[in-house]
Amino acid sequence: MRKPKIVILGAGYGGLMTAAKLQKTVGVNEADIKLVNKNDYHYETTWLHEASAGTLHHDRVRYEIRDVIDRNKIEFIQGTVEEIKTEEKRVILENGELAYDYLVVGLGAEPETFGIKGLKEYAFSIVSVNSARQIREHIEYQFATYNMEAEKKDERLAIVVGGAGFTGIEFLGELTNRIPELCREYDVDFHKVKIICVEAAPMVLPGFDPELVNYAVSQLEKKGVEFRIGTAIKEATPEGIIVGKGEDEVEEIKAGTIVWAAGVRGSSVIEKSGFEAMRGRIKVQPDLRAPGHDDVFVVGDCALIINEEINRPFPPTAQIAMQQGEVCARNLAALTRGKNDLETFTPDIKGTVCSLGDDDAIGIAFGKKMVGGKASFMKKMIDNRALYMLGGPSLVLKKGKFNIF
Ligand code: FAD
Ligand code: NAD
Repeated sequence: MRKPKIVILGAGYGGLMTAAKLQKTVGVNEADIKLVNKNDYHYETTWLHEASAGTLHHDRVRYEIRDVIDRNKIEFIQGTVEEIKTEEKRVILENGELAYDYLVVGLGAEPETFGIKGLKEYAFSIVSVNSARQIREHIEYQFATYNMEAEKKDERLAIVVGGAGFTGIEFLGELTNRIPELCREYDVDFHKVKIICVEAAPMVLPGFDPELVNYAVSQLEKKGVEFRIGTAIKEATPEGIIVGKGEDEVEEIKAGTIVWAAGVRGSSVIEKSGFEAMRGRIKVQPDLRAPGHDDVFVVGDCALIINEEINRPFPPTAQIAMQQGEVCARNLAALTRGKNDLETFTPDIKGTVCSLGDDDAIGIAFGKKMVGGKASFMKKMIDNRALYMLGGPSLVLKKGKFNIF
């Protein structure tokens, strides 16, 4: 009998978890499995704010995909997915094409700019190792250039972070630790540096526990962050940003660095391939398959699932992506064995922890609120757990976070 061809697109939390579990459950003779990813490495998307601020080297946040897969069972293909031709069961890559019987789409997220003018041209986003490296280099360039100019431009040292969601806040936490180091390295007066966070909603971390949010805001303010709440970025320009409160109140904030951390959408490949989607995310069936496509599973940030309790989508997280990967692998194993009774995916949210730099954090885990060193310890344990689940104990030893206070 011909072995079914399983193709997994994306080696992020969702795709790599599917591959990791599948290689444990499916025998060499049961399926022909291919894993496709743009780069030959996996990066910890959840650590990219650290690489962006420069508090962690970008090589610490990535590792070779071939090192964590069983090469007897899974073939890794480095390639960029351009389109999925569902009618023909083919995937078009930049450098070739692949046929599939079953497909897993785990292509992750892209920045959502909501059509705001100038953002694509003048703002950075924390989305990959390449973008993180660029942000770190850009900020460093601004510091290095400041003292070179006859007429010093203080706005060069202003950094705007758009959005006080979890990404924005975690990046600010790292930035406030990095700036004093940069000031020392480039002989820059700390008081000349401005870090401004612009948030459209009336509060930081909208919807999160207010007591924990107050703690985070006060810690970041103490380290020099200026919050502009209830204020939306309306435009980005070569000189900075235009912000507004309502229709009439408009103000320019001059800045040498703009980091847009104000939202994500699913991969653009989804829409290009003709799937019905909301901002690049497919509302999946309970078994994680795309409606109308019984041979296509969707995991991670490309999948949309509704939290029935509040009738709103679950926020896209690594936690959910990894849990989906596990269920997806079990469902694929069932299908390859001719079983059609597939498992339903139900997220098991264990909590949310938001770092505020290397030694501080806020969070709720297993129903308990925590702040400071305890929360920071929990965050590192979560990071190490993800490494363990994707690459076992050797990966934890190689890349794990052990700087625990
Ligand atoms: P990803 O893990 O991003 O992986 C997508 C993969 O697909 C990547 O390897 C990428 O290179 C590849 N790819 C993309 N496009 C193509 C293409 N066209 N062709 C080939 N390959 C492609 N969530 C949490 O639960 N906890 C956290 O603490 C947390 N912290 C975060 C911190 C930051 C700074 C950010 C940005 C996000 C954070 N998240 C966190 C959210 C979490 O990172 C995402 O929800 C998660 O990464 C989604 O997993 P995924 O597998 O869908 O995508
Ligand atoms: P988000 O959508 O959660 O937050 C974006 C923020 O930007 C919102 O507060 C929004 O009000 C604001 N915003 C939108 N438009 C704006 C504008 N024009 N001007 C100013 N502010 C504007 O996005 P995110 O923070 O990138 O998070 C993406 C996903 O990743 C979420 O699901 C999040 O839960 C997850 N994540 C989790 C963690 C963690 O668990 N520690 C860390 C980072 C990200």
